[in-house]
Amino acid sequence: MADYLSFALDRIAAKTLPCHWIVTPDGDQGYEWCPTCGYYMVRNLRRRDKRRREDYILDGGWRTSHDTTPICHNCGALLDGAMTEYCAEEEIAYYREYGLSDRPDIDALYLSEIIGAMGWDYGGKEHEDRDFILSLAQQLLPAAPTAGGGDAE
Ligand SMILES: [Zn+2]
Repeated sequence: MADYLSFALDRIAAKTLPCHWIVTPDGDQGYEWCPTCGYYMVRNLRRRDKRRREDYILDGGWRTSHDTTPICHNCGALLDGAMTEYCAEEEIAYYREYGLSDRPDIDALYLSEIIGAMGWDYGGKEHEDRDFILSLAQQLLPAAPTAGGGDAE
């Protein structure tokens, strides 16, 4: 069931860009960048520090796990990344408090990542979380019987 929902959610999920980060001579900056912003940021840093220009590197471009949902530090684009269990728990707490947002594509992205991050086979609290997240996911999917209304706009 969860596998099917993940697949269905991915079909309607907001598109993400590859996640990059910048290695500087002084270490990692701690920010995430989309490919375009990362490229220009590295170029800028190199210009300002010509003697060490070779030590500024745009790294990443592949999927890693994050404690918060990754977005570009400059333009706010959604970036590709898995959620750590901690991140998934934070997101679940958020959905319990606020419910679905007004962006079904972003909800679909995050719910799919939550489903991917959690250990769904355990009992107790995680079992409650699973039922809660799966019910939210079903509300997002077009064929779901609970989906009300038509296509506005
Ligand atoms: Zn960007």
